Amino acid sequence: MTFKDIAEARRYISLHSFANDYNLTIKKSDRKRLRVVCKDKCSFVCLISDDKHVAGVRVKTLKGEHNKCKDPCGNYKVSATTIAFYVKEKLQANPKYKIKGNES
Ligand SMILES: [Zn+2]
Repeated sequence: MTFKDIAEARRYISLHSFANDYNLTIKKSDRKRLRVVCKDKCSFVCLISDDKHVAGVRVKTLKGEHNKCKDPCGNYKVSATTIAFYVKEKLQANPKYKIKGNES
């Protein structure tokens, strides 16, 4: 999976996190790298960085399962579509929409 740049990757991660009710945290973010982890007990890790073979940035590491961060019986999927649609509308209306995370 590739993104135009780190900013786009961050937007995607934020939307993905919000829509699926994951508690993702941006551990490190600069112009070339983005490292995202889930809550402490969850083993999910995602590392995105620039790639000389493609334009933009690419997902380098994506591992772990979201096995400890939410109730598997929850009906989060029902609302996820609605939320994702809402966020997408918001992003389109305002491309500079701020997402959570530490600026560096
Ligand atoms: Zn998780």
